[in-house]
Amino acid sequence: MSGISRIPEPRNELAKGYTAGSPERAEVVRVLDDLAGKVADVPLYIGHERVFTGQTADVTMPHAHRHVLATAHQGGAAEVEKAIAAAEAARPAWAAMDFDARAAILLKAADMLTGPWRATMNAATMLGQSKTVHQAEIEAACELADFWRFNVAFARQIMEDQPISPDGQWNRVQYRPLDGFVFAVSPFNFTAIAGNLPTAPALMGNTVVWKPAPTQMLSAHYLMELLLQAGLPPGVVNLVQGPPQEIGAAALASPMLAGLHFTGSTGTFQHLWREIGTNIHGYRQYPRIVGETGGKDFIFAHPSADVSALACAIVRGGYEYQGQKCSAASRIYVPRSLWPKLKDDVVAQIESIKMGDVRNFENFMGAVIDERAFEKITGYVKLAHASGDCEVLAGGTFDREVGWFVRPTLVETTDPKHRLMAEEIFGPVVTLYVYDDAREEDALTLCDTTAPYALTGAVFAQDRYAVERIAHRLQGTAGNFYINDKPTGAVVGQQPFGGGRASGTNDKAGSMANLLRWTSARAIKETFVPPTQYRYPYQG
Ligand code: NAD
Repeated sequence: MSGISRIPEPRNELAKGYTAGSPERAEVVRVLDDLAGKVADVPLYIGHERVFTGQTADVTMPHAHRHVLATAHQGGAAEVEKAIAAAEAARPAWAAMDFDARAAILLKAADMLTGPWRATMNAATMLGQSKTVHQAEIEAACELADFWRFNVAFARQIMEDQPISPDGQWNRVQYRPLDGFVFAVSPFNFTAIAGNLPTAPALMGNTVVWKPAPTQMLSAHYLMELLLQAGLPPGVVNLVQGPPQEIGAAALASPMLAGLHFTGSTGTFQHLWREIGTNIHGYRQYPRIVGETGGKDFIFAHPSADVSALACAIVRGGYEYQGQKCSAASRIYVPRSLWPKLKDDVVAQIESIKMGDVRNFENFMGAVIDERAFEKITGYVKLAHASGDCEVLAGGTFDREVGWFVRPTLVETTDPKHRLMAEEIFGPVVTLYVYDDAREEDALTLCDTTAPYALTGAVFAQDRYAVERIAHRLQGTAGNFYINDKPTGAVVGQQPFGGGRASGTNDKAGSMANLLRWTSARAIKETFVPPTQYRYPYQG
């Protein structure tokens, strides 16, 4: 049986509103109660087995850190070796499976996610990662379903990319999986990224060892159960969690490593890259390395900017999900002529933000992810209070009693190269520098050169010449650039996501470019009537 199927046309999943009285709100509240009322026992997933090692780590609610949501069984080097063996054992059958069959699993998973699993994935993400219902919905439900549906269409586009064939021959390209396993390492902050990192290589026929972040374990657990129920064969994605150093070292030591699919901090990525370099002589192939990492994302305002839109972008872009998005607005450049019109309004908006337990739907913000993050972020807040060239205009307080709460903080600095303007904080701290209108060019140089990152950025201006000038001038400063919009909230299929410089390899998650990294092409030339004489006519 043979046929060229037509891929279902992907459409972005629409976010539900969760307004008071809506059925989706009632459902998510029911599941929130259910998940908060029990302690999940979270295993490793290796081949056909759910592995309970007996060594466990607690998964707690960031906004109520004494509340244990799950005990996650921990693995080490031995479990990684078993997971690699399981991935290797599953590889031949998975690689040989028809693409449509692999695709069907992800399309089914997407429909399960946006249907019967929606409330579970959202509730697990809300409780375990301290996301408001809106922040959970846009990614744990919508973005993840988009990744799965759009990747199927992108993969087919790759397969359709075929060479020309002159008379007498047929040239073809086969897109084979890589010759080993892919190591997927995901961050805490997006359930969607956790779902995409192992499944994008799997869609291309690879088998995977996946290490989620310890603080994302509750939603990772439900994600794995969903994928298995959708028909993902055991061994295709093997979940191993435990001490990151040990897991990482064991996975990267395997001669079968074929790729690293990483999202997380720049420091961790550089460490993993170094380790691959050290082991390079031992691999059967050159591992593909894809990493999306940190950011120091900016908003650059021009004197012609719409002040209300700018204020809204600072608040939403800077503080949604507590600023724990790689794309979060973290440094703002405002012209002196505009600042008086913006200052009081933006400060008042920030001070009005409600923060607390995400089960209270009035809150706009929850807590930061864990104690380590709390210590790091509040260190920057203390630095702002202590610096003579900084003034804390809003927020600046924090409280660790019940949850890891840091008030949304706006700092104005007169030093454009202050650490607060240069380093990734990954929390609800936004720093603003007021530049002289006449020195726009210098301000653009500062924007371009102050941080090592180049992930996201935005320009706010009504003057179209200014928009074009600034967009051109900041060409290398962001992999995702926004005009009159906040620098967060990229949508699969609409804004392929990723950055350059220290922000990553810019392989654009949710695009054809990313999937290309997980396939190894074989070109085939077939000649229909091959020559039988070695001499050429000119020799006659
Ligand atoms: P992190 O670097 O602390 O952790 C990321 C993952 O790496 C986790 O699973 C962690 O356990 C693992 N890890 C850490 N050390 C390891 C080691 N030695 N070996 C193997 N694995 C190891 O990052 P995080 O705190 O989870 O996430 C926040 C960071 O991620 C921020 O820097 C943010 O900018 C970045 N991020 C980037 C993007 C993007 O698309 N560019 C998206 C989301 C997050």
